[in-house]
Amino acid sequence: MENSCDVCEQRKVVRRNQKTGTAICQNCYGIARYKDTSLHEKCFECGEVKHVAGRDEGGLAICPNCYQRARYKDTSLHEKCLKCDEVKPVARRSETGRAICNTCQQRSRIGSCKECLQTKVIQALGLCYACYQRKRRADTIQSSPA
Ligand SMILES: [Zn+2]
Ligand SMILES: [Zn+2]
Ligand SMILES: [Zn+2]
Ligand SMILES: [Zn+2]
Repeated sequence: MENSCDVCEQRKVVRRNQKTGTAICQNCYGIARYKDTSLHEKCFECGEVKHVAGRDEGGLAICPNCYQRARYKDTSLHEKCLKCDEVKPVARRSETGRAICNTCQQRSRIGSCKECLQTKVIQALGLCYACYQRKRRADTIQSSPA
């Protein structure tokens, strides 16, 4: 059923809470669940009570941090990098769906910055991180009413 979400006020498929009558979309429901500490469980990896990102075969809860780390360490998910030929965690995929590792992904973004002309990792608009941040800051000052 398409309706307007009471939380983000966008027209979306919503579910209605029977008790409160609040309509909430899938996205906001996910965020609410994430914040709801009553649904949090003790992570079997780090022992902290957090949002449950997944479970092991025994049903034990794992937090988002440890889940990420486990995925990163899990060599069964590693693939041969298109560029360096090493078997590593996949940071990105090429248009053809082949794996690219984090090191090569970073290296592919290195170029000459249009502003400071130094060879750096290009953040956006052909600018390095520092110059891009500076430009963004300058833009916000200019566009704000005097
Ligand atoms: Zn919403
Ligand atoms: Zn954990
Ligand atoms: Zn690589
Ligand atoms: Zn720069």
